[in-house]
Amino acid sequence: MTRPDDEVEPPVDVAVDREQGVTITWVDGTVSRYGLEELRVNCPCAACRTRRDRGEPAWRPTPGQPPLRIADAELVGAWGLGLAWNDGHTTGIYPWVILRVWAGPDAGAQR
Ligand SMILES: [Zn+2]
Repeated sequence: MTRPDDEVEPPVDVAVDREQGVTITWVDGTVSRYGLEELRVNCPCAACRTRRDRGEPAWRPTPGQPPLRIADAELVGAWGLGLAWNDGHTTGIYPWVILRVWAGPDAGAQR
């Protein structure tokens, strides 16, 4: 018996455009693109999950602040991508399995 998260292999390519978002090429050749706001609003860290559980957005645009962008990105072991944001938020680590699910049915993800 195989758990779903065992079925997601690390991508073959991860391209981070700090102004636009993240593009991931999976082992099967599928290419998934994630916008900055989509990634930020769905940040999987505990603090952001808590906010969403309370019905608050994990992030919203702040008038007068510079546009959202990625300040830093790094691969976290074999299982995910860590993103630091220009708003000072640095705790989000995005596991491949979550990114694969977000990519939707076209990427062969199982919900
Ligand atoms: Zn977060």
